[in-house]
Amino acid sequence: MTDLPNPLSHAYLLTGGSGESRAALIQRMTAAYLCQGERPPCGRCAPCRKAAAGVHPDVWRTAPAPDKREITVDQIRALRADAYVRPNEGRRKVYIIDPADAMNPAAQNALLKVLEEGPAYAAFLLSAAQPGLLLDTVRSRCEPLCLPPEEAPPDPELLERGAALAALLLEGDELACAQALVELELQKPKGEQLSALLGEAENQASRRLAQDPRRGARVLRALKACRENAVYRPSAGHTLGWLLAELFQS
Ligand SMILES: [Zn+2]
Repeated sequence: MTDLPNPLSHAYLLTGGSGESRAALIQRMTAAYLCQGERPPCGRCAPCRKAAAGVHPDVWRTAPAPDKREITVDQIRALRADAYVRPNEGRRKVYIIDPADAMNPAAQNALLKVLEEGPAYAAFLLSAAQPGLLLDTVRSRCEPLCLPPEEAPPDPELLERGAALAALLLEGDELACAQALVELELQKPKGEQLSALLGEAENQASRRLAQDPRRGARVLRALKACRENAVYRPSAGHTLGWLLAELFQS
């Protein structure tokens, strides 16, 4: 889980990751601003629980209206007016603008002043998939928080090829293995793809280990070493050639 900045600044712009991962971090940061426990966000105190349930009276969310694509200047004016009213329960008020890149330019301009000179208790959390749509002046008033890219789900075709490769290696037909590896090499898989494919081959091989323990264990060892090298070796050809030599050398 992403570590929260400590101490928290008064305004953040969250980018990168996915909409869900940014929303999850915003949820934790909101709780951290409002928490009355020892190590915010404790997740157990009343403010943390209210924030998690979306019922904390000092949290203000701004998003486009259901039938609209933009956040309007009127919405930001309403936020601004609220920001000058002291918190209801806690020491802070948290203003979440998600997606912030849905603010039209007039809305962004309306936000500037409160973002820069708002009351000390007001905290702002902006989430944007496309931060380039925000004015420089808005961006520069927020601490940037860029989430790492999400791992893509495994490609089903890659997994199938991994399973087929494991079957051939376990059968021990050198020619068929060589053909399969040459075909694979011609597709020029990148280091991570090759590594994922070999990982799946490893899974499959380990499932069949019971059927032929000696050969199975050897194939598994070779696949594992090959996978670990996949990201460093200069080409798929090098990596796969090495796998073939390892398994069929006399
Ligand atoms: Zn708490």
